[in-house]
Amino acid sequence: MPRDFLKDVADEYDVIVIGSGLAGLTSANILGRAGHRVLLLEQHYKLGGLATWFLRPGGHVFDISLHGFPHGMIKSCRRYWNADIADRIVQLKNIRFDNPMFSLTTTFNREDFTRLLSGRFGIAETVVSEFFDTARGMNFFDDQTTTTRQLFDRFFPGREDVVRLLMEPITYANGSTLEDPAITYGIVFSNFMSKGVFIYQGGTDDLISRMKRELARNNVDVAIRCPVDRIVVEGGRVRAVEVHGQPIRCRAVVSNANLRSTILDMLGPDSLDPDFVAAAEAVRLNNSSTQVYMAMKPGVEIDESTGDLLFTSTAPVFRTDLLLSRDITSRTFSFYYPSTRPDKKRRHAVVSSTNANWSDWANLSESEYQHSKQELIDTTIDALEKYVPDAREKIEWAEAATPRTFNHYTRHQLGASFGTKFEGLGVSRALPQQVEGMYHAGSVGIIMSGWLGAINYGVIVSNEVDQQLSSQAAPR
Ligand SMILES: Cc1cc2nc3c(=O)[nH]c(=O)nc-3n(C[C@H](O)[C@H](O)[C@H](O)COP(=O)(O)OP(=O)(O)OC[C@H]3O[C@@H](n4cnc5c(N)ncnc54)[C@H](O)[C@@H]3O)c2cc1C
Repeated sequence: MPRDFLKDVADEYDVIVIGSGLAGLTSANILGRAGHRVLLLEQHYKLGGLATWFLRPGGHVFDISLHGFPHGMIKSCRRYWNADIADRIVQLKNIRFDNPMFSLTTTFNREDFTRLLSGRFGIAETVVSEFFDTARGMNFFDDQTTTTRQLFDRFFPGREDVVRLLMEPITYANGSTLEDPAITYGIVFSNFMSKGVFIYQGGTDDLISRMKRELARNNVDVAIRCPVDRIVVEGGRVRAVEVHGQPIRCRAVVSNANLRSTILDMLGPDSLDPDFVAAAEAVRLNNSSTQVYMAMKPGVEIDESTGDLLFTSTAPVFRTDLLLSRDITSRTFSFYYPSTRPDKKRRHAVVSSTNANWSDWANLSESEYQHSKQELIDTTIDALEKYVPDAREKIEWAEAATPRTFNHYTRHQLGASFGTKFEGLGVSRALPQQVEGMYHAGSVGIIMSGWLGAINYGVIVSNEVDQQLSSQAAPR
């Protein structure tokens, strides 16, 4: 008989969170801590969403999205999770770039970028300073018509090398391009520039297990393998969610699932204003990714001077279409030294990530798909040889993930790695005005994606849910 994953779940909750990505986990934790009865439902067999990992024989652990986030994570984790988690966040000091325009190493903060831009790239310090201040001053209420390309043209006209230095890591961090609104660049770039790039020491497996323990302490009920098929709305209010045909009643819902799936599939157009449905249908998804995971044989050492994050490209200039192309020219290598998991077996791993289009992978036949994955692995190992000599002989395990993999495990439409383009944020924010008690918290609008963006969006939304629940008497 199949296991009943709902067997310990009550008939009714104050709030149900759909999806255990970082935004969903954080919302559930805050609301549980505030004393509300919370149920977290996850369709996958483990928690974390894109913040996840997998194990392979030989003691190898691969992280999917633990490559780097801004310093702000320490504060958010301390405040909304616990000190135990916050204290494990450490800085990556060795960020490298290698492309036909320049090769350099940086700590990736304002001070070091000022040194590079004024010294090596010959930009006047006043211009550099004005650029940083402009980027840092950007916020959601600013002009949203200026594109990132226009921002760069204003400060660094004709300087494709500077554009590349400033843009390549942010495209990697949140999928934004030169064509997106400048604020999607300014906010995320400034977050990184405040203090540099950080990761979680212990790995994603350690982080998620600590989060699970904190959820338990805050009395959040958690059920895995529980896909929500439908959100039940009656009289303009959420009343329940349905899992495996079983309704579970609630006063509020926070969906951490893909924004378009939440609105167009789980809620459905009948309970929504037609203009809102049209706006949701018009929301564009962000791009997807491919990754190649490579574990070194036991005993193989990679010198830490190789770098923590290495942005490589063979393309002569930085262009969005080149970044997304199946004909890969840009790869970001993340190096995981034994210090990433000091308590585990001494292992070295490298993960290569590349932005990718869903359409390039979606319709391949099974044999074409397997062939393309193998080609991706082979060409990536070739590219790695430049930085890890004889990499092919040193690797014990290599495998690839594609946009189809990300879609499979998280149900993100088109395998989107970073939620939606900018317009998704307005639609996500407007959801509670459409249906009382219905909220969305998850990667949207570029600025609310990535580990920090997702956690912070979970915080914002849980505060709104808390206010709603606290202002209403519980139904009889
Ligand atoms: C390859 C890659 C590398 C990345 N690298 C970085 C990085 O270095 N730094 C960084 O900050 N960010 C990175 N990101 C982005 C970051 O991982 C995400 O922005 C963030 O983790 C998303 O969190 P989220 O809360 O939006 O939810 P998601 O992680 O998208 O999770 C959504 C959850 O909802 C669940 N779900 C969906 N539908 C249902 C349903 N019907 N019922 C129940 N559950 C459902 C899914 O299974 C999933 O668990 C990377 C992303 C990718 C793909």
